[in-house]
Amino acid sequence: MRLTILAPAQNLQLLQRAKEFAEIAGEAASLADETGSIEQRVWSALRDTELSMAPFSPAFGGIGLGGPDQQATLCTILRLIGGADLAVARLFEGHVNAVMLVSRYGTSAQIGSLAESIKLGGLSGVWGAEDAQGLRRVQRGDSWSLQGRKILASGAGMIERPLITTESLEGHVLYLLNLETDGRADITSWTPLGMKASASGTINLTGVIVGPSEQIGRAGDYMRQPFFSGGAWRFCAAQLGAMERLTDLYCAQLRARGRDGDPYQLERVARCTAACRTTLFWVEEAARQFADESLKPAAVVAFTNLTRMVTERAALDVMECVQRGTGLSSFMRPNPIERICRDLATYLRQPVPDLAMSDAARAVLAGELSIGAGS
Ligand SMILES: Cc1cc2nc3c(=O)[nH]c(=O)nc-3n(C[C@H](O)[C@H](O)[C@H](O)COP(=O)(O)OP(=O)(O)OC[C@H]3O[C@@H](n4cnc5c(N)ncnc54)[C@H](O)[C@@H]3O)c2cc1C
Repeated sequence: MRLTILAPAQNLQLLQRAKEFAEIAGEAASLADETGSIEQRVWSALRDTELSMAPFSPAFGGIGLGGPDQQATLCTILRLIGGADLAVARLFEGHVNAVMLVSRYGTSAQIGSLAESIKLGGLSGVWGAEDAQGLRRVQRGDSWSLQGRKILASGAGMIERPLITTESLEGHVLYLLNLETDGRADITSWTPLGMKASASGTINLTGVIVGPSEQIGRAGDYMRQPFFSGGAWRFCAAQLGAMERLTDLYCAQLRARGRDGDPYQLERVARCTAACRTTLFWVEEAARQFADESLKPAAVVAFTNLTRMVTERAALDVMECVQRGTGLSSFMRPNPIERICRDLATYLRQPVPDLAMSDAARAVLAGELSIGAGS
């Protein structure tokens, strides 16, 4: 991956635009949760602030936010958006992941084609999850016909240029699709407690024809480490944004009710703040390690897996403290604590958490990850 050093002024400008975008997404969050759909003005703001183009390298009209030297800035942006609306953060994170994958493994023509669609206001995402039937490909001369569907696909019905995975004997193959508006999405099965507006529905891909021009990289590239598992720091950053927002709201509501001098409340405020800061240290370090290609992949993956474990525990602790400390009012609409806790509890459910934790422990036992930093 090419290194693109952002000048500090450019960096500050980007963060300023991310704050403006987060404000708009935050204002729209309650309605999005109610309707299950994010207002068009939020997507227009994502395009107008140029955040959707930011992950591309300058050669393709972006500013290299997906590049190794920009992972700390990306971390801050994901926290900002996560604090505004986790559903928007989920969609933005998936978009960044897709652009990073296409930029890493795709050809210039493929990156350029994706950049053109995004410039026009589109969004991408990575759709990997499948039901028991799975997604198969059947050979048709030089091309393949897809058979089956994707599930839990965020932005179903809205995203036109998703990256999808399909299994092959040589490993997972990535295809960058052009779905246009062809009615393949069904979000009726997406009936979660929270994250409703992420529209993570099913996509019927039967009959979609893919070939060399849609294929990104070679079979097996998608699962290449540390990029596959190491990228999990990004959803932890978005979740951290929500934890920080919950803690802010908790403090504000304690002050408003004159309950901020009580020793039990003080203890909970201290625990929430420590949980957020602990998570920040882990997530920022995981982002730094993800960008450091001199590190051993196994160590980066193990560290990220531990970051997942720490983030999940800390988020559960913050939600418990905030709900106990604000009481019944935090379960009442339109208190934003109610919505954010539902979103966070839902978004914390990520793939195979037990395996992530136990793989990290195995890496420690095998001497692949040292217990102390830098030793
Ligand atoms: C808001 C939201 C948006 C999403 N968007 C996307 C998207 O755009 N694209 C996409 O591809 N996916 C998406 N997903 C899916 C996500 O990536 C995960 O696949 C999904 O959330 C994991 O669900 P789960 O908790 O059932 O996972 P599981 O991995 O099934 O975990 C459930 C529990 O079972 C345990 N477990 C897992 N496997 C085994 C086993 N073999 N034996 C015993 N125990 C086991 C786990 O450790 C855990 O305790 C989204 C999910 C959410 C919540």
